[in-house]
Amino acid sequence: MTLTAPTLTDLAVATHERVVHVEGLPGGLSALIAIHSTARGPAAGGLRMRSYDSFDAAVEDVLRLSHGMTLKNAAADLPLGGGKAVIMGDVATQKTPELMEAFGMAVDQLGGDYRTAEDMGMTPEDMAIISRQTKFVAGLPGKSGDPSPITARGVFLSMKVAAKHKFGSDDLNGKRVAMQGLGHVGWHLADMLHEAGAELIVTDVNEDALDEAVVSFNAKVVGLDEIYGQDVEIFAPCAIGAVLNAKTIPMLTCEVVCGAANNLLATPEDGQRLVERGILYAPDFVANGGGIINATPEIIGQTQDAAWLEGKLQALSNNMDAILSESLRSGLPPHEVAEHMVEAKVSLAA
Ligand code: NAD
Repeated sequence: MTLTAPTLTDLAVATHERVVHVEGLPGGLSALIAIHSTARGPAAGGLRMRSYDSFDAAVEDVLRLSHGMTLKNAAADLPLGGGKAVIMGDVATQKTPELMEAFGMAVDQLGGDYRTAEDMGMTPEDMAIISRQTKFVAGLPGKSGDPSPITARGVFLSMKVAAKHKFGSDDLNGKRVAMQGLGHVGWHLADMLHEAGAELIVTDVNEDALDEAVVSFNAKVVGLDEIYGQDVEIFAPCAIGAVLNAKTIPMLTCEVVCGAANNLLATPEDGQRLVERGILYAPDFVANGGGIINATPEIIGQTQDAAWLEGKLQALSNNMDAILSESLRSGLPPHEVAEHMVEAKVSLAA
C-alpha cells in the first residue's frame, strides 16, 4: 500500500506556539499536534489515541496535555519544551500500521519541533512503526523501556519529602497510605512503600491487581469511592486525573497527597481547598517527572547514563523540597509555587 502524506493545517490558538490539525490519515481519521512551548528545547510529549465526543473535546485535551508537558519538562530541568498529540479514533478497531506510519509522516513534517512517544493507547511496537517515517520518536522497543519504575521512584522520593515537612521525619515505616490504582506505577510504588514498612489500603477497578496486593503487600482492599475517606496519613492517587475536587477533598482525612496521576487537581481552586484543610499536596507534574526523565536521553539522541538518571531523581526530590518549603512559608498552594518556578524557567529560556 502506498501512503500519501497527510495535510497539516494550523489552528489559531493564542496560548500555544503551534497547533496543527493533521488531516487525511488512513481510515478517514485525523489527529492534532500541539506545541505549547519550544523555549527550552523541542516540544516533547506522547501520542494518545482515543475516541472523543467532539473535535472541540480533542482540542481541549491536547492543549491541556501539551501545557502540562511544558510544566513537567521544565520542572525536571530537562532540555525539552512541551507538546502532545492525539489521534481521534478507537484504538481497538481503528489503529493500523498505515495509520501509525502516516502519523509519523506528520511528525516528520514538523522538522523536529515536536518529539513523540507513547501515551494512552500506544505501545513500543507502534513507536517502531512510526519510526519508519520519522526519527523524531522515542519509546522504541529495547530503548529507554518502561518508564513506570522510575516514575514510581520519583513519587516515592516526593512522598518522603512531603512526610518530612508534615510529620517531621521522612520515615514511612508504619504510615498508613491509601492507594488509588495499582497499575504500572502504582504497583511499583506499593512495592517500595511495603518495603519501607508502610501499611497499604488499596483500591482499583482491576480485581486481580487487588488480590495480588493482598498476597504481596498484606494490603487492605476498599471500594472505589471508599478510598477518599480512609483513616490514613497519606493518599497516593495513581490512576486517573481530577480526583482532587470539591466533592472528594472534604472526604479526605489524610495530611499528605502525593501520587503519580496527571492533572490531579480538577481546578486550580482545589489546590487552595487542600491548603484550607491542612493537607500538603506534592504537585503531580513535579512528583511524576521520573518517566520523562527516563526517556529524555532517547528523545534527544543520547545514551542512557545511570549516574545522570540518579542525579536527576535526586534533583526532583530537592526541587519538591524547595516547593513545599516555600508553600509552607508563604501559604501559597504548592502547585502555584511550582507553576511560578516553572514559568520563570521557561521565560528565562525564551
Ligand atoms: P496504568 O493504566 O498502568 O494504571 C492505572 C491503574 O488505575 C490500573 O490498574 C487501573 O485499573 C486503575 N484504575 C483506573 N480507573 C480507576 C479508578 N476509577 N479507581 C481506581 N483505580 C482505577 O497507568 P500507569 O502507567 O500506572 O499510570 C498511572 C497514572 O500516572 C496515569 O494517570 C498516568 O498518566 C500517570 N503517569 C504515568 C507515568 C508512567 O511512567 N507510566 C508517568 C507520569 C504519569
